[in-house]
Amino acid sequence: MKLSTTALSLLLPGLLCCMGGDKPDYRKVHFDALFVDTHNDVVQRVLAGEDLSHRTAHGHSDLPRFIEGGVDVELFSIWVPPGKTARGYYEQAVEQMDSIDALARRNPGRMAMGRTADSIDSLVAAGKFVGLFGVEGGHVIEDDLTKLEYFSSRGARYMTLTWNNSTDWATSASDETDASSPPEHPGLTDFGRQVVRRMNDLGMLVDVSHVGEQTFRDVMAVTRKPVIASHSSVWNISRHRRNLKDYQLDAIRDNGGVVFINFAPWFIDSTFGRKEAEMRRKEARRIDSIQAGIPGDGFMKDLYSAEQLAADYDPIRPTIDQVLDHFDYVARRIGVDHVGVGSDFDGITVAPAGLRDVTQFPELTRGLLERGYSVEDVEKILGGNFMRVLRAAESR
Ligand SMILES: [Zn+2]
Repeated sequence: MKLSTTALSLLLPGLLCCMGGDKPDYRKVHFDALFVDTHNDVVQRVLAGEDLSHRTAHGHSDLPRFIEGGVDVELFSIWVPPGKTARGYYEQAVEQMDSIDALARRNPGRMAMGRTADSIDSLVAAGKFVGLFGVEGGHVIEDDLTKLEYFSSRGARYMTLTWNNSTDWATSASDETDASSPPEHPGLTDFGRQVVRRMNDLGMLVDVSHVGEQTFRDVMAVTRKPVIASHSSVWNISRHRRNLKDYQLDAIRDNGGVVFINFAPWFIDSTFGRKEAEMRRKEARRIDSIQAGIPGDGFMKDLYSAEQLAADYDPIRPTIDQVLDHFDYVARRIGVDHVGVGSDFDGITVAPAGLRDVTQFPELTRGLLERGYSVEDVEKILGGNFMRVLRAAESR
């Protein structure tokens, strides 16, 4: 039986490119391609006073490292911790956006803020690293569609409907799976449906990472545009409530959307949580004293202390190969048009071996090529798929 080229390439992603030919140079492929990462939480480090204009000693990213890693477009996560605070969520989100705009203004030769797909194309062609925003957690719109419109006008290209906390109008994966207090009415309310429709009108991508399964189903029933999961991985490989089940992957394929793979060790390797708990139990006293020496609280304390525990994490962190398994799973199940990169760098306290920070993104390209993906398919995964869904979101 003779298979057509198209049929064969569907069966064997990319093998055709390399049959009898030379292996493509992974660095050339990586740096020639448009590379988009849909989720990075480094804004939290900016708020803690770090200047990303220079190479920093902490975390996973800064401007020099984005450029070294071949990142063309980064979606900076605007995330305001829920809970009682003196200032409102919206006000804090605006301040976070201002801090990244200011970073771009301080570095006009290297960085610019984008908005539409066309503006991204022209800024990248001009050699700029392009910043966009992803709003993580619908609580920052404070139940007000005019605030959603404002975020869109500021360059927020997606909004994750919930973070781990539910909003008044959408329930989160965390709350829907919490057996001790399940929500009375899981899913979207009427206002939640209005939010999705308004996002469709505004050309803002609806992000289903973090939402509960009922919210997911409700979103898929109401959206007129492709959705994304900006930073989630595969449930069938690692059973974490933030990962996507097969029926969700299939629904995203049918909707024309894209799943952007998250590098969080807990999402990549189902055994990591247990191994980490064991390590932390053994080292509890030392960890307490490390944490006591770090000012502040919450996420930054966890991030900075995990850096000091790097040697303890080394034997248990998942490998880049395990991360690639998630890309492979999604590509094989729903097609190479529906998978991309949503690293969650600087939002994860521990990174996989071989992907320790944004400078190692080229290793992902190397791994995909080594697994037989064609250059064309790799280009889709690295950025082409994001640009396709963004244009689809922008279309009338
Ligand atoms: Zn998140």
